[in-house]
Amino acid sequence: MNDASDMPLVLRDVRRTFRSGDERLDVLRGVDLSLRAGEIVALVAPSGTGKSTLLHLAGLLESPDAGQVIVGGQDAGRLGDLERTAIRRRMIGFVYQAHHLLPEFTALENVVLPQLIAGVRRADARVRAEALLGSFGLAHRLDHLPGRLSGGEKQRVAIARALANRPGILLADEPTGNLDVKTSEAVFDELLHMVRGQGVAALIATHNEELAARMDRVVTLRDGQLVDLGS
Ligand code: ADP
Ligand code: MG
Repeated sequence: MNDASDMPLVLRDVRRTFRSGDERLDVLRGVDLSLRAGEIVALVAPSGTGKSTLLHLAGLLESPDAGQVIVGGQDAGRLGDLERTAIRRRMIGFVYQAHHLLPEFTALENVVLPQLIAGVRRADARVRAEALLGSFGLAHRLDHLPGRLSGGEKQRVAIARALANRPGILLADEPTGNLDVKTSEAVFDELLHMVRGQGVAALIATHNEELAARMDRVVTLRDGQLVDLGS
């Protein structure tokens, strides 16, 4: 039995049902998951099986109908909104399929801003943002607005932003799903390299089984439950 306090992320019997009118869709029917520090787990499952729902719950962006989401040893369901938001900002980085960058801010500012919100001094935030963007090969793109970046560059900025506050957990929802195959593989390589280098635990949803095979462990969703497929 693993002790949840040693794990960056633990889900216990997590359930989520969507209702519209008389229709009821039990998407997650008791999901259990433990993510070890620094472990990189691929979530591979067909569309509509609940990958995004699971990631949003794990990322404290939504709350389950039942079950526990335990982040850094703290049961998020027992926290007030402010505390939960603080934990999310400090401990979790989230990468969406679409980059979700702020269009009126430069690449650099997009990576600086979450650090300012977390209380980091501007000068320090800038150093960190430049280093992160530099390691994604974007040193020459710092002052570009997202609209002037390629798809791959935008997604690299989004990953840098997610790592800006040195989270213990990175959640990524098909992070290269909108990119062509070649760009997707390049961005994925950099993502895995950065995540390993920073010792971040990651749960990454992907359709690409070759990419999944490069991670430490693969899990899937079957009938609303998480099934471990091993390494
Ligand atoms: P995946 O990411 O694996 O494609 P999702 O988690 O997005 O799957 O969706 C799982 C199922 O839940 C789908 O049938 C989807 O239509 C449904 N669903 C997701 N979010 C909502 C919502 N907010 N309201 C109603 N149904 C939803
Ligand atoms: Mg999805």
